[in-house]
Amino acid sequence: MSEVHILGAGFSGMSLAVELATRGFRVQVYDERDRTGGLIESTPLRHDTRGVCGATGAVFAERAAHTISCTPELGEFFHRLGLAPLVQSPAAKKRYFYRERGRPGGKGLTRWPLGFCESMGLAGKFLRAKITGSMSPEPGETLRDWGDRVVGEAARHFLLETAMQGIYAGDGGRLSASLLLGNIFRRTHTDMNRQKYLGITSFQGGVASMFKAMESELIKRGGQLHLGRRIELKDFPHRPLVLAVSAMEAARLLAAGVSNSRGATGANSSQELAQNLSGIENVSLISITAVFPSVSRRGFGCLVPRGEGLRVLGVLFNTSTFDRGWSDWVEAWIYGGATDPEILSLDDESLLRLLTTERRKIFGLAETPTAWKITRWHSALPAYNVTLERILQQAAPLMRDLESREKIYLHGNFLGGIGLSKLYRRSCELAERIQLAGNQVRD
Ligand SMILES: Cc1cc2nc3c(=O)[nH]c(=O)nc-3n(C[C@H](O)[C@H](O)[C@H](O)COP(=O)(O)OP(=O)(O)OC[C@H]3O[C@@H](n4cnc5c(N)ncnc54)[C@H](O)[C@@H]3O)c2cc1C
Repeated sequence: MSEVHILGAGFSGMSLAVELATRGFRVQVYDERDRTGGLIESTPLRHDTRGVCGATGAVFAERAAHTISCTPELGEFFHRLGLAPLVQSPAAKKRYFYRERGRPGGKGLTRWPLGFCESMGLAGKFLRAKITGSMSPEPGETLRDWGDRVVGEAARHFLLETAMQGIYAGDGGRLSASLLLGNIFRRTHTDMNRQKYLGITSFQGGVASMFKAMESELIKRGGQLHLGRRIELKDFPHRPLVLAVSAMEAARLLAAGVSNSRGATGANSSQELAQNLSGIENVSLISITAVFPSVSRRGFGCLVPRGEGLRVLGVLFNTSTFDRGWSDWVEAWIYGGATDPEILSLDDESLLRLLTTERRKIFGLAETPTAWKITRWHSALPAYNVTLERILQQAAPLMRDLESREKIYLHGNFLGGIGLSKLYRRSCELAERIQLAGNQVRD
């Protein structure tokens, strides 16, 4: 049985490990942490004086992914793992925007942030771009430029940039339209069918609970987990090897030198690739999960455009997204991103004061949280900006070279999507490539 080694037991590494093990590979997974999950962790929330939230302590805070956009293939993966994905509650269909600026009388929370003339302007611009065949993003075009060109300034600012900043936490003036929207315009008819989204999902115990199921499946199929083990490539000769780590870590590992069964390999494509990857920028984030006495608004969440005098990027209404039977009202507030890195210097007390003030402004509720969990990410996600677009283009032939010469494959959320459904798709594609390469060697 062929062996494959994977560095990183986050979602990328673990989902690939299960896919390879299912194809008959003996898979060894290594992670420097003493748990699987990487960025993802679901931890119980505690009240100051009343102990854990929820009667059984079942109320938790998500550190990274709160929900998963489920595709048919991901749904099938969860089914194979024996997981029971939750169905989003009917209320979660409601998504809100906050807008006061530029609207007569101010609107506050709204399902559609554009006025009548702005909506007409959006329809006109969009139709014109469709008729003239100029919808596709140009190489190197920013989201802001694409938006102004195809949907008009108001829709670009209040809808497009606001929504994308809620996912990628980037700066609209630097986000890459091609990386964010290119797939929509490149899709063939069959791809469209394969990309179908079934809605959002999670699990009763939180997103992180899927890792226990992946661990069991891996071990059942003869794989092994080596937790608490930090790997350096210069003394790791095993192949095939997959680096399922952040761009920064992949760059560091490759730059420090690669050794294989033939000994150390010198400065070559791996060094050049390391140099490329080290140029990838990261965005910082803060997520605050908090319990409040009153319900702010039932729904999925609310997005906040820049320029409204608020620092929050978006609020997720955790309690009403899935019916988990929580009696506590839990919200997740996301701050920071490419346009507000300074917020990381605020201490917990200042952050909670800011949150309380902004909650009063958005929802009209003057309350302080009864429980909270604050997570600060100095380097949360790769910045999906035009620099990343250029780097990925330059890195593509170097990555192919590394695969064919060194049998080293790259995986992770800097290669085309941060969402778990995209990472899972890459896991399936990689598993197929590794299997094919193994067959070719045997032939
Ligand atoms: C605040 C926030 C909210 C998010 N919300 C969502 C959401 O709602 N939905 C969604 O789909 N996605 C969301 N995401 C994105 C998603 O969580 C990530 O893209 C995904 O978890 C990344 O997984 P990964 O396995 O690629 O990387 P990681 O989770 O970073 O895993 C990499 C692993 O490699 C290990 N490692 C690194 N170096 C070494 C080494 N030398 N040796 C051994 N091990 C090593 C690390 O310890 C780590 O465990 C969110 C992210 C953040 C930060």
